Amino acid sequence: MTIAIYPGSFDPIHFGHVDITRRAAKLFDHVYFAVYAKPNKRLLFSAEERVALAREALADLENVTVLAYHELTVTLARRLGAQVIVRGLRAISDFEWELQLALTNRELAPEIEVVCLMTRIEFAFLSSTIVKEVASLGGDIEKMVPPQVARALRERFPVPPAQAISGEREGGAR
Ligand code: ADP
Repeated sequence: MTIAIYPGSFDPIHFGHVDITRRAAKLFDHVYFAVYAKPNKRLLFSAEERVALAREALADLENVTVLAYHELTVTLARRLGAQVIVRGLRAISDFEWELQLALTNRELAPEIEVVCLMTRIEFAFLSSTIVKEVASLGGDIEKMVPPQVARALRERFPVPPAQAISGEREGGAR
C-alpha cells in the first residue's frame, strides 16, 4: 500500500491544487492533503478554515484525507506511514524552490521520495496569491476556485476597494 502526502499552505485551495490531488489519488492508495498550519507567510485564512475549504473541495475523493499539521513535513510523513511527498509544478520558476525543498527533505528522511506532478496548462498561471489579489479587487474568480472557496473569498472582500476606481481616474498604477 503506497501512502502519499500532499503538503502546502493552501491559502486557499484552488483548481490547480484540486487537479494535483485528483491525479495523486489515482496514483496512490491513500493521499493525505496536509495543510501546513503556520507557514512563513501572511495568511488570509486560519488553518481550520483552510482545512474546511479543502474538505469541501475534495469531498468526492474517497481515498483523500484532509488534515492540518504543525511539524516538519517529513515528520508528518513518517507519522502517517507515507512513503511519498507529492508537490505540484507550474513552471521552471517553481522548479528551483521545489528542488531545494526536495533535497532538504531527502537529507532529513532519505527513505521518502518526492514526486512532482506537472500542472494542467490551464492552471499554469494559478496561485493562491493571484486568486486573493483578483478577489480583493472584485474580479471574477469562479474559474479559479471551487464555489465554496469563491464564497469565502467574497465574504472576506465584499466590496471592490474604491482605490481601484480612483486609481484609474488618475491614470493610476493598476
Ligand atoms: P506552498 O506549499 O509553497 O506554500 P501552495 O500551498 O500554494 O504553496 O502550493 C502547494 C503545492 O501545490 C506546491 O507544490 C505548489 O507548487 C503546488 N501548486 C500551486 N499552484 C499550483 C497550480 N496552479 N498547479 C499545480 N500545482 C500547483
